[in-house]
Amino acid sequence: MKRISLFIAAAALAAASLSAYTPKVVAHRGHWQPEGSAQNSIRALVKADSVGVDAVELDVWIDATGTVWVNHNKDINGVVIETADSATVAREHLSNGEPIPTLRRFLAVASELRPDIVLEVKTHEDSLREDAAVDAAIAMVNAAGLAPRTTYITFSRRAFERMVARSGCPVQFLSAVEPAELKALGGTAADYNIIHFRKHPTWIDDLHALGLGVNVWTVNKPEDLRWCIDQGVDFITTNEPELLIQILQEQQEK
Ligand code: MG
Repeated sequence: MKRISLFIAAAALAAASLSAYTPKVVAHRGHWQPEGSAQNSIRALVKADSVGVDAVELDVWIDATGTVWVNHNKDINGVVIETADSATVAREHLSNGEPIPTLRRFLAVASELRPDIVLEVKTHEDSLREDAAVDAAIAMVNAAGLAPRTTYITFSRRAFERMVARSGCPVQFLSAVEPAELKALGGTAADYNIIHFRKHPTWIDDLHALGLGVNVWTVNKPEDLRWCIDQGVDFITTNEPELLIQILQEQQEK
């Protein structure tokens, strides 16, 4: 009898520790794989919500007249966002036929859905324009009431430092610096390509020991997803959110 209750206690402990380390599922550019969806589209945001992700990652650029657009590449259909005016960018459509979303519209939809937001400000050619992109993104997130659910990410050191100084939100760095340097810069988590964590096997523990989180991108293969889960990372950014959710559910049921 005693042995059984000990077993139950051990199982409960294992379950508790598993749930404590379940990583957040971040849909990279939304859930864009299904038919009719597209990267960084409103449809991809809604789809991501429908499959139960924890967060949606998106990329933003500011144009020459101050509108912030959701798009990964610096151009859409050949129109370079940073140097185009708003009316020109607004005429462009995504591969699924949607008009390119403004950040304002994207956040308005996101505010009605469950997933958190992981907002990447891209590295602009013009650093002052990049500053304006950071400031506009922060203002819009705050106005949409999304600050408690938003994390900022960027490769740009300048944008990173501005986000740390001005957003009041978690800020994760995409450019892989040593854990101690990230801490000194005021980041809350590393958001590094899986290659860096494979190359530096102690970094995940080092980051956690410094009180920092770990986000890994872009993890799509089952063996890599399982490796990240086993390593105890905090966020997994993936193009395969449904696969990751399925793997996590299978692990919980074990
Ligand atoms: Mg991105």
